[in-house]
Amino acid sequence: MEEVLSTLRCFGEYHKSESFKDDNVKTETSVEQKKVEDSIQEVLSAYQQNHKLPQPTLLREQHYVYLKRGLRYLSDSYECLDASRPWLCYWILHSLELLDEPVPASVSSDVCAFLARCQSPTGGFAGGPGQQAHLAPTYAAVNALCIIGTEEAYNVIDRQKLLDFLYSVKQPDGSFLMHVGGEVDVRSAYCAASVASLTHIITPTLFEETPGWIARCQNWEGGLGGVPGLEAHGGYTFCGMAAMVILGKEHMLDLKSLLRWVVCRQMRFEGGFQGRCNKLVDGCYSFWQAGLLPLLHRALQAEGALSREPADLTARTRGSATVTGDSALSQRSWMFEQRALQEYILLCCQNPAGGLLDKPGKSRDFYHTCYCLSGLAVAQHFGSRDLHHELILGKDENRLVPTHPVYNICPEKVAQALKHFHQLSVPMQREPATGTLNLP
Ligand SMILES: [Zn+2]
Repeated sequence: MEEVLSTLRCFGEYHKSESFKDDNVKTETSVEQKKVEDSIQEVLSAYQQNHKLPQPTLLREQHYVYLKRGLRYLSDSYECLDASRPWLCYWILHSLELLDEPVPASVSSDVCAFLARCQSPTGGFAGGPGQQAHLAPTYAAVNALCIIGTEEAYNVIDRQKLLDFLYSVKQPDGSFLMHVGGEVDVRSAYCAASVASLTHIITPTLFEETPGWIARCQNWEGGLGGVPGLEAHGGYTFCGMAAMVILGKEHMLDLKSLLRWVVCRQMRFEGGFQGRCNKLVDGCYSFWQAGLLPLLHRALQAEGALSREPADLTARTRGSATVTGDSALSQRSWMFEQRALQEYILLCCQNPAGGLLDKPGKSRDFYHTCYCLSGLAVAQHFGSRDLHHELILGKDENRLVPTHPVYNICPEKVAQALKHFHQLSVPMQREPATGTLNLP
């Protein structure tokens, strides 16, 4: 383990030279970028004035109080998330597991009962009781239940109906609708692949054509758009890459151009990530973008091992990027500035009263709390099991529990869910009319 006590990057003599240069051309976005950098500089200067020895601290206790209260009580401002209630369960439970804070059994049991009410009679989970099944809250509900990880939690999930629901939104081209009659984008492929793999309901046809469809979402930038032909975006890129990893088809993507795209999304001055080219830094991309690096590291490592076999080389060539083995891949760190990201999250994204946020000046919320902490966990932990290296900025108390880069729940909870559901057989694909009476 490496505790980082040396001077922070953002207080170093070269930091100011990393600020945005507009080449004397002012645009709407260049003005916004400068404003954000100024607000970050203000935060950093204030911190430096108050701390002789910079020691960024994770406000554990404050985050814990904020999160625990959110499980029972939400303010009026969350009214707009009435169709995302399983998400709130997941964001809070995952944040708590990252902080290594146990949830009382009675609270876990109440969450199970609530999520059971969100489960649709047609399978899958809705954003709230009585609403329509949707792939996003289905992903959130299954993740939340796997974090709880009890028999009671696993038993909430009706696997046969979940499979029926997935087939009801599957499209002939391999993509998935977010809900019946809804839109298609690459989030749905990830949500479907995530819940189906965790609960062991993948049939031979469920993901037919899906990897090819996801590969078409990768564009000239290197990242993935929501559907083929759209601008590359951090959230969609994570979803596409993680889905490919689950389906074992990550090599259908141009991994090196994806790598180049994502590393260029880490901001030189801020240290955090932007979601798209020419956009502003945002704390939630600490996971959506930085979370890609563990997936890419593993995929490139596997590809490097494969390409050492000469016969395989030509098959591993896609476009102009030839993969010739990745012996140069680090055994100690991901391919992004892990310290800079930790500095951004700890110094610029924490609300002193608990909860984390997008950027200075924004308010805290459970979504940003979950994804800032998830990104912080990625930046603190390299590798897994036998090859594990920690880089903790500040005191050791800042250490979070590692997160699984594919599912974004803790690795032991993934292993436990897989072990539980693999004892059960894969349900059968049923005709859509099953269970309903078809009158002429
Ligand atoms: Zn955000």
